[in-house]
Amino acid sequence: MKKKEFKAESKKLMDLMINSIYTNKDIFLRELISNASDAIDKLHYMSLTDNSIKLDKDSLAVRISIDKDKRTLTICDNGIGMNKEELEENLGTIAKSGSAEFKTSNEHKKDIDIIGQFGVGFYSSFMVAKKVEVVSKKYGEDASYKWTSSGIDGYTISEATKENYGTDVILYLKDDTDEEDYSAYLDEYKIEALVKKYSDYITYPITMLKHHQHLKEKKNEKDPNEYETVEELATLNSLTPLWKRDKNKIKQEDYDVFYSDKFDDYENPLRVIHSKLEGTIEYTALLYIPSHAPFDYYTKNYEKGLQLYSNGVLIMEKCSDLLPDYYSFVKGVVDSPDLHLNISRETLQQNRILKTMAASIEKKIKKELEDMRDNKREDYEKFYQAFGMQLKYGIYSNYGLDKDKLVDLIMFNTSKDKKLRTLQEYVTGMAEKQDKIYYACGETIDKIDSLPQVDAVKDKGYEILYCTDYIDEFTIMTLHKYQDKEFMNVCADNLDLTTEEEKKELKEKNDSSQDMFKLMKEAIPEIKDIRFTNTLKTHPVCLTSEGEISAQMEKAMSTMPFQNDIKANKVLEINSNHEIAKKIINLYENDKEELKEYTKILYAEARLIEGLPIDNPTELSNLICKYLSK
Ligand code: ADP
Repeated sequence: MKKKEFKAESKKLMDLMINSIYTNKDIFLRELISNASDAIDKLHYMSLTDNSIKLDKDSLAVRISIDKDKRTLTICDNGIGMNKEELEENLGTIAKSGSAEFKTSNEHKKDIDIIGQFGVGFYSSFMVAKKVEVVSKKYGEDASYKWTSSGIDGYTISEATKENYGTDVILYLKDDTDEEDYSAYLDEYKIEALVKKYSDYITYPITMLKHHQHLKEKKNEKDPNEYETVEELATLNSLTPLWKRDKNKIKQEDYDVFYSDKFDDYENPLRVIHSKLEGTIEYTALLYIPSHAPFDYYTKNYEKGLQLYSNGVLIMEKCSDLLPDYYSFVKGVVDSPDLHLNISRETLQQNRILKTMAASIEKKIKKELEDMRDNKREDYEKFYQAFGMQLKYGIYSNYGLDKDKLVDLIMFNTSKDKKLRTLQEYVTGMAEKQDKIYYACGETIDKIDSLPQVDAVKDKGYEILYCTDYIDEFTIMTLHKYQDKEFMNVCADNLDLTTEEEKKELKEKNDSSQDMFKLMKEAIPEIKDIRFTNTLKTHPVCLTSEGEISAQMEKAMSTMPFQNDIKANKVLEINSNHEIAKKIINLYENDKEELKEYTKILYAEARLIEGLPIDNPTELSNLICKYLSK
């Protein structure tokens, strides 16, 4: 029998398969089962259009059998089958969309990536088999043929005897090595597990003869235990996946069990989204909003993504293109008959179908979150504790491109009752003459509450958003406004709560004290400005900042690498109604050196209140003691 050569690109792919560079060998089974299922589909489809074909629909199946002695694993189908020409045509060349890309790549490493991406098809059998036989009989024809290959050398085709139409793929498994245990594919449990993992949702039954050990019935009490092997034809796949079942017949419990099985979560999800889109693009999605963040959620190890199926066949474990980063917490499954099984990841990214699905999925998630926010507040707060940070991050990242989509999903604790409130709720509750949204930043709510400026704003009857996450202030800066209302940091130097008259009075006082402030600034060169204020109620001093960078941001950024030289423009504000104001004016006239030392103490106080570190604690404590003992 004359051996025929493979086409060049097939050789190359086979070389990679045989030398097993691609590590996930298990997937060969998925590929063969999916080919078998496609072949059955084709025949089934033909029978729908051709009345002369009489099919027993219940007999359509993929059968797997194991022969431990011969070390073979066989995948049979009663699908359309192949004749001689088709065997040659289909198995002698790579007939897939990815082959063009494949040919252009010369580097070894790139090849591996490509294999991983476009699904490896029939040739993946050579990852586990040293010889492959394909015995096939085309539906409606009499002859059957056997295609045989032991690798790159080529293949032979000969006549064969096969009773029924369809195809048998027989894999002669490789010998075990130190690294690889090919015998594992002769283990019924292993095969069953692989079918469940990769091919559970194939629409035809995938059957296998399973062998169980049974205790033989004893004829006599004293007989020793004897075992017998019992055969059972088992269907390995569950045939109808949960997401394809009728919504009205699914119980919450079914959803929960599926979720915990599939996504390894011990806690039930907060929400389930089960939706079907029928139109130019068809898909079914079963999505979950978890009730807590996985332990690695806020690390770079966390991988977002949805499981992607093409008509019940798993084609991607984690398709990240289906979820925006800010919804990376969503788990679930998406199934679309419009997707090709061997879709490459590169095509995926640009894939119009995928994009359309992603957009519609995003809308569904948003709607669900809004519904939870409005109708199940307790759940939403639980959700927000777990994933709120991610939403705020979503506003701030991407240059604020997505802020409008997310702004109504975020919440802040506020001074009203220290509970989480949305911005809409804040605005609805604003005082009559209030035209700004006030916020204050600090490590904890208590620390923020002790800020002098907070008192003054609260005194006006204005609610304050507490920003305790480092990301909060960046988020607010990105938002800039909400419903035409500007955000105002209560610690900003332009916080303005006073009447025109008070302003005028203050201005005069500040103007006439410029020389004094100039002298005081000599004591603390890093300060941008010093001035009197009349917004502080009882506190003597506070620190505000001019411009974009606040003192809290300076603090947050000092903990990040590469950015620690960014400083806020700090302004020391002194309560003009406080005793201390009189004292410093007095000192300016009588003892300029002492005034400088006073200034240092006042500045340190202001820093402490803001939660900023003191650069020279020894000097400060000496100064305080000096004046305490006077
Ligand atoms: P793909 O499935 O992506 O086309 P494969 O290399 O897996 O690529 O298979 C090549 C071709 O061989 C298939 O397109 C199909 O025509 C044919 N084929 C493979 N397996 C079978 C089968 N079990 N029955 C009928 N035809 C098959």
